[in-house]
Amino acid sequence: MSAKRTCLQIPSDGSESCIQSCDWIGNPNKLQEQVICLEPGVSAWKLIQEKIQELSNMDERDAFMVTDLGVLAEQHQMFLKTLPRVTPFFAVKCNNSPSVLQVLANLGTGFDCASRAELEQVLKMGITPSRIIYANTCKQISYLQYAASHGVQLMTFDCEEELVKVAKFHPTARMVLRIWTEDSDSIFPLSAKFGAPLDKCGHLLSIAKDLGVTVVGSCFHVGSGCQTPESFHQAIANARRVFDLGLQMGHPMGFLDIGGGFPGEKNFVPTFEELAAVINRSLDQYFPESSGVKIIAEPGRFYASKICTAVLNIIGKKNVVEKEGGRKLMYYINDGHYNSFALMLRERQTRIPRVVKKFNCKPCLYPSTLWGPTCDAVDRLGPTEIMLPELQVGDWLVFENMGAYTRTINCNFNGFTRPVMTVTIPSELQHLLDPVH
Ligand SMILES: *Cc1c(COP(=O)(O)O)cnc(C)c1O
Repeated sequence: MSAKRTCLQIPSDGSESCIQSCDWIGNPNKLQEQVICLEPGVSAWKLIQEKIQELSNMDERDAFMVTDLGVLAEQHQMFLKTLPRVTPFFAVKCNNSPSVLQVLANLGTGFDCASRAELEQVLKMGITPSRIIYANTCKQISYLQYAASHGVQLMTFDCEEELVKVAKFHPTARMVLRIWTEDSDSIFPLSAKFGAPLDKCGHLLSIAKDLGVTVVGSCFHVGSGCQTPESFHQAIANARRVFDLGLQMGHPMGFLDIGGGFPGEKNFVPTFEELAAVINRSLDQYFPESSGVKIIAEPGRFYASKICTAVLNIIGKKNVVEKEGGRKLMYYINDGHYNSFALMLRERQTRIPRVVKKFNCKPCLYPSTLWGPTCDAVDRLGPTEIMLPELQVGDWLVFENMGAYTRTINCNFNGFTRPVMTVTIPSELQHLLDPVH
């Protein structure tokens, strides 16, 4: 639902910004976002620099974030080009910003929803239910009823109890059996909680048959931040076994969902292209084009990670002199674990920020710890010390790749609220914010 259309324009000549108009996206009463259109030649980074400049003359230096919807469109093109047989269904839990979902809707992706609220948000944009998969294997009964009454048919399961609920509360659903995957090498593994072991799948398929529940295919998730392409190969091979079992029992198996787990950052190893090469080969081996199987994926991180940049301010500093005379620095920052950095504590290393400060000569680097603003000592921006030049209270740190699992995981513990978000779109892509028709 887009209410008012106007657009804020940043002139490319570097002169002062002139506000011309702006775009409001989302339900006017609830999630409301202002979108700034960028003229050709103006980048989101330019806007960030302007904003830092402006705030540096003030005492009020709140943290802020900027989303670049142009990058979102680029990620989509990259996905289609690299995995040509796979239709993306974006995982809403990763970034549910109304303008992000609106752009994806107009680019033609489907959506992976896991709760009633996520289903509602997507359906309210006018998305047809066939573009939605309810990809949560264990669903509250009232949510199942909501899906049933709104025509959402595709949904996942991995156990007998779920089939019993579905038979009773959503008997026309088209079920997708989630299989267990080896994910011990993923940064955020999921298999402790989700997925039926391969040797239980025959039993589940036959229970479904007895209950009159239709199984149309199979799915898996190799864990978010997958580091081993082989996990995809093995999971696709296992999905083939499930297809064969289902077909023997008379289930109309024709739908394969290869889940998420694709890296969002450029320097991640393996790269998206390396993963995709293994996936494409495995798909051609086990689900050749001639099989007629529809293949989807549920990327989250891959689409969202690069689109946001977080700009934070140093609000406190401690100088720690060690016994041997070495120096360490502790910085207190106005965003942290209870806001945008909730998942970063589970990453292997603290992310390295860009320091917005000019040094006359090459500065010394010191082991530094970045702490969030709350009174909890868990509240750090990442698990490890990082090497930084000496900074002062009032200096800025810029974190890139902050679009995945940052805004959707959040609380205002201790009264610290999430940073204000500014959304930008290149003016030539503005039409992607139009309502879906
Ligand atoms: C979280 C999740 C995704 C998205 O995972 P990414 O690693 O962000 O791509 C997809 N599908 C399901 C079922 C999920 O739980």
